[in-house]
Amino acid sequence: MVVGEVAESLDLLVIGGGPGGYAAALHGARLGRTVTLIEKEHLGGVCLNVGCIPSKALLEVADAAALPGRVAGWGVAATTSIDMAQVQSHLQQIVSDLTGGVAQLLSQAGVQLISGTARFSRPNRVAVEHGDSLSHFEFADVIVATGSRPIDLPDLPVDGQRVVGSTELLFSSKLPENLVLVGGGYIGVELATAFAKLGSHVTIVEAEKQLLTGFDKRVAGLVARGLEKLGVALLLNHRAQKLESEGLLVAGPKGSVALPADKICVVVGRRPNSDTVGLREAGVLINSQGLVDVDAQRRAADHIFVIGDLTEGPALAHKATAEAEVAAEVACGGAEVFDPTVIPMIVFSDPQVLSVGVDPSQAKKQGLESFRFPFAASGRARTMGDSEGFVTVVADDAGTVVGVHAVGSHVAELAGEAVLAIEMAAAVEDLARTIHAHPTLGESIMEAALGLAGRPVHVSRVSKNEKS
Ligand SMILES: Cc1cc2nc3c(=O)[nH]c(=O)nc-3n(C[C@H](O)[C@H](O)[C@H](O)COP(=O)(O)OP(=O)(O)OC[C@H]3O[C@@H](n4cnc5c(N)ncnc54)[C@H](O)[C@@H]3O)c2cc1C
Repeated sequence: MVVGEVAESLDLLVIGGGPGGYAAALHGARLGRTVTLIEKEHLGGVCLNVGCIPSKALLEVADAAALPGRVAGWGVAATTSIDMAQVQSHLQQIVSDLTGGVAQLLSQAGVQLISGTARFSRPNRVAVEHGDSLSHFEFADVIVATGSRPIDLPDLPVDGQRVVGSTELLFSSKLPENLVLVGGGYIGVELATAFAKLGSHVTIVEAEKQLLTGFDKRVAGLVARGLEKLGVALLLNHRAQKLESEGLLVAGPKGSVALPADKICVVVGRRPNSDTVGLREAGVLINSQGLVDVDAQRRAADHIFVIGDLTEGPALAHKATAEAEVAAEVACGGAEVFDPTVIPMIVFSDPQVLSVGVDPSQAKKQGLESFRFPFAASGRARTMGDSEGFVTVVADDAGTVVGVHAVGSHVAELAGEAVLAIEMAAAVEDLARTIHAHPTLGESIMEAALGLAGRPVHVSRVSKNEKS
């Protein structure tokens, strides 16, 4: 590393060590480039350290805590107690195992790691700040994957104590008694599910008229019902105003109310970290939401590739990782494009949600056929004691599968088959005639396809459009 104004020359530089950046670095190294990765905080980014992984680990803990209620009537009696300190060390252990694994993979691939905050000073040059030192690097190609950060509410600033973001809530050492989540997107819904099961009194305040905007209305309704069953209060069509001595002031169509809250967690969305890395100075175009304009190959300017939460599309880890491969291939002379037919979306609520491709409401509007197979008719769902929910398969006029949507216990695990079917342009018949193992939840996809094909087995035949 050269300190001062002299710049060290690098081959392929990656900025940001999240699921986009570390995957890009690994692909670049595999393709024979000399790769340097600059990360300002922790390898693994938001996903591994404070996002996907600890949130799902906490949901598992919460499920375990709620187990006695779930198995009541099965002939098993149990009581549970929660030790938040141990919960925290359990979460930390999972995070450090996974981030340690990433560090090992990068080291085995020969990726050079630099700890520091990078910022473009010219289109082919970055300055990297590390403590008091500033170093300069030039590069042949760069892949930028600096991710996103939470959006703040100006009247409800995060103080890290009473008003927190998802990170502080996930890693709180004390269970809040009254928790208010401001924002009913997937992060708010998942945190509400976890903390309600752990024993907090939870309220979600959401400005829109439904939770999970962007998801099918019926699906969002089932998630809302599931939350209410857990005792979560839903204030839809309400806006959080400010913190007062009596609690959080919330305004809705019928006036304002103060909600008691020892913890308020603001989860109203995330904004891309495109402004903090000097991308504009590097000559790339950034829209009003902070998203970087990239072509299908994830190129934002000559030799500059941008991926992950910085680009249009769902801000999800698997999208970042998929873009990483394309950007690395193209930077190494390939001709790949990022052109997925679908990107799966999952909400780890109770019941869980899986959304892939055309949803049932869109299908109805477009006059496409769909078939809903209820989990009540699934042997596997019955044995698991969770027979609420359904799988819907949507087909186009040619009988090609264009959507798979499910609500129910463990439906996240159906994502692979759903995405593969749509990416491979499977016909309804392909799903219907593929032998699925019994008893598994996956059979429900086959059953819905059988229904679409007009020969349902475990539900009765019904008429067109949404068949069920
Ligand atoms: C609570 C929560 C739960 C989530 N759950 C899921 C889930 O279940 N499934 C899912 O797919 N997604 C989930 N996400 C979203 C997911 O975490 C992100 O979409 C994903 O991490 C984006 O990856 P990325 O590589 O673009 O950026 P990030 O993971 O944000 O990584 C960016 C990295 O760049 C570093 N960085 C930033 N600026 C600089 C700089 N100037 N110099 C050097 N380094 C820099 C950061 O420190 C960070 O490590 C969740 C997010 C949250 C907050």
